[in-house]
Amino acid sequence: MIQEIATALTVVKNLKDISGRIKDAEFKILLADLQMALADIKVKCADLTEENIRLRRELSRVSESDNVRKNIEFKDGLYYLKTPVEGRPSGPYCPGCLDTHERLQVLRKLPKDFEVFGQFECPICKQNFGKSEMDDFSGFSAT
Ligand SMILES: [Zn+2]
Repeated sequence: MIQEIATALTVVKNLKDISGRIKDAEFKILLADLQMALADIKVKCADLTEENIRLRRELSRVSESDNVRKNIEFKDGLYYLKTPVEGRPSGPYCPGCLDTHERLQVLRKLPKDFEVFGQFECPICKQNFGKSEMDDFSGFSAT
């Protein structure tokens, strides 16, 4: 964009230089150049504004996820908030989603009939967590 601004300024300077001894055609050409240079700047500005908005969003997402990390504790194989956050349940949260995608996803309690698979299910990655009745057969515990 520095380049486009420099071009626009050069055109303005040229216009000033010839303003005394001006020929209509020459003036019109320079004016068209100036118009084009300013249009380029406008496009670049729009791109930069868009990029800026995107980066701000990304930064706020990263710092939010950083704050979440500081406020989370690992208990019995699941994540819970250490201190309550307004508008968020205290947990449990999916360890898979947080560790892999930095996503704080609250787990859904499975109905009694489904507890054969575990106590909780992640609606996003579909993993089951918590003690399941299967544990009694395999001797393997997910917790
Ligand atoms: Zn998950």
